[in-house]
Amino acid sequence: MTIRRILHYPDPRLRRQANPVLEITDSTRRLVDDMAETMYQAPGIGLAAIQIDEPWRIIIIDISQTRDQLQVFINPKILSREGEQELEEGCLSVPGIYEPVSRARQIRVRALNRDGQAFEIETEDLLATCIQHEIDHLDGKVFVDYLSRLKQTRIRKKLEKRGREQGAESPRSEYATGRESTAAVAGRTRLKI
Ligand SMILES: [Zn+2]
Repeated sequence: MTIRRILHYPDPRLRRQANPVLEITDSTRRLVDDMAETMYQAPGIGLAAIQIDEPWRIIIIDISQTRDQLQVFINPKILSREGEQELEEGCLSVPGIYEPVSRARQIRVRALNRDGQAFEIETEDLLATCIQHEIDHLDGKVFVDYLSRLKQTRIRKKLEKRGREQGAESPRSEYATGRESTAAVAGRTRLKI
C-alpha cells in the first residue's frame, strides 16, 4: 500500500467528472487500499479517488472511533434524499478550512463493495453528510462551492498562498508523520472528508 499525494483546492484536477468503474479488478482493489492508507494517515474520515488524482467513482469512509470500520462505495448513487441538516465540514483537499454546509439528513445509497457486490444502505446524520460530500467530489464539486463567493475567494487565495509557500510536494504538512500527534487526534473531531 502506498500513501498518495492529496490534491489541494483550487487544483483544477479536482474539477473533473470521475468515470464509473466498469470492472473491479486487482488494480481497483489496490487503489482502494492506497486510498485507505492515505485517508488514515492524513488523518481523515473520508476520501474520494479523485482527491489522489485517480478519476474513478470510488469513495471510502470510516467514521468509527476505532478507525477499523472502512466502508467502500464503488459507483455510488444516491437513490433518495430526505430532510435537511447543517454540519461543519472540512476536507482533506481544503486543509484548515471548516464551514457549515446544509445537506440532506437522510439518504438511500446504492453502490458496489470492494468485491464488486451491489448493496444498498439507508443512513442519516454524519454518515449521510460524508457520503454526499464524497459523491460531490466525484462530480467535480468541493464543499466550498456551497459557500458565498466572498468566502470562496478568501479560501482560494489563502490556499494558493500556502501552496506557494510550501511548494508543490508537501501533502501532509499539517501534522507530524509517523505516530499520530496530539493535533492529529484533536483534528479528527472535526470532519475532514
Ligand atoms: Zn472532501
